[in-house]
Amino acid sequence: MTDFEIICQKVDDLINSLGGYWSKEWLIEPVIEELGEFSKELQISAGLHPGKTTSSEKLMEEYGDLLFAVIALGRGLNIQIEESLLNTISKYTNRKK
Ligand SMILES: [Mg+2]
Repeated sequence: MTDFEIICQKVDDLINSLGGYWSKEWLIEPVIEELGEFSKELQISAGLHPGKTTSSEKLMEEYGDLLFAVIALGRGLNIQIEESLLNTISKYTNRKK
């Protein structure tokens, strides 16, 4: 089992402990929500929201939330996440040539 598969199994275990994966049409919702939260922290860190502050720790926390939601989306849809990511890396690597 790769490190990535171990991480995916931890996501499965946590979600199953919380009642299991949502039906597939709803799995995108947490991704959208967490992308919004990450985007807001990124904008704050870029100074686009005067008077608000963030930290690298908060940005990392929101990035982790987003990654978790994206992995859960793939797992909930039975997508081979590691394979899909490696395929994308190959696709962009080949485009550069
Ligand atoms: Mg969040």
